[in-house]
Amino acid sequence: MKIAILSRNENLYSTRRLKEAGEAMGHQVDVIDTLHCYMDITSSRPTVRYHGSELPKYDAVIPRIGASVTFYGTAVVRQFEMMGTYSINESVAISRSRDKLRSLQLLSRKGIGLPRTGFANRPDKIKDLIKNVGGAPLVIKLLEGTQGIGVVLAETNKTAEAIIEAFMGLDADILVQEFIKEAGGADIRCLVVGGKVVAAMKRQGAEGEFRSNLHRGGSATLVRLSKEERATAVNAAKAMGLNFCGVDILQSANGPMVMEVNSSPGLEGIETATGKDVATLVIESIVKNSKPNNNRTRGK
Ligand code: ADP
Ligand code: GLU
Repeated sequence: MKIAILSRNENLYSTRRLKEAGEAMGHQVDVIDTLHCYMDITSSRPTVRYHGSELPKYDAVIPRIGASVTFYGTAVVRQFEMMGTYSINESVAISRSRDKLRSLQLLSRKGIGLPRTGFANRPDKIKDLIKNVGGAPLVIKLLEGTQGIGVVLAETNKTAEAIIEAFMGLDADILVQEFIKEAGGADIRCLVVGGKVVAAMKRQGAEGEFRSNLHRGGSATLVRLSKEERATAVNAAKAMGLNFCGVDILQSANGPMVMEVNSSPGLEGIETATGKDVATLVIESIVKNSKPNNNRTRGK
């Protein structure tokens, strides 16, 4: 098969691993810089151009679209979809996953466990919003944040009000969420490929830190998932329409709660912590699901 990895940098761990795994299985794997792709979107024969010439027809693409290039990146993925190329994650599903609010609404409709979460954009209703999600302690999250930046813990209702007011004063969109104290500054990252959890790790925040992001000094260890946690991760991936994703779960007293679903999950942390060859499983899933010249998006 001819596979393209859409990535800004071929030296990134995940990109390198996916290329290696594909080549080891005898496929041609090209790394294409998403932002260097351009196209005539109205042509009756859709193509993607790259550095002055037309790209060959790929059987599959693996989008590795960073949050900051979601808009252009998903347009490029969509163009490949128009050409009948299989994408392990469809453009609509990637866009959906980048909108935290939209994601939580869709997950909630499927009955997936979630921390109680509120959203408002007018400061005059802050007190009621806080009451509505159960009061302090609360986690307040910038909708645009990644890697734990813009995620704040408010211990009292007064602090929560002040933080919400400050964010709103800056016109920032925020979520207000019940704080899951019993998670103990840890969360579980489940890597889902083709409807199965293929690897999972527990991430523990640094001493005195409730955020478990590895970027913030958290550490990762192996974890054995309960049946319920496994089912939650699989259902969340399905609700989002993602074939390759990371599902972040908090272990709460009321069972597993999904925090977010990541459509470009990094492989370095999880492969290192678990010793699993996730990259090969991704390529195997592509081989299983891509149909020569006949891929239609589900687009739902
Ligand atoms: P980001 O997408 O920026 O990583 P998250 O929403 O995943 O932001 O939050 C970062 C970290 O903060 C999580 O990995 C988790 O450890 C912690 N956290 C987030 N929300 C909650 C919550 N409601 N209760 C307890 N801990 C939380
Ligand atoms: N088409 C799906 C629905 O109506 C998904 C919508 C979305 O991604 O926002 O539920």
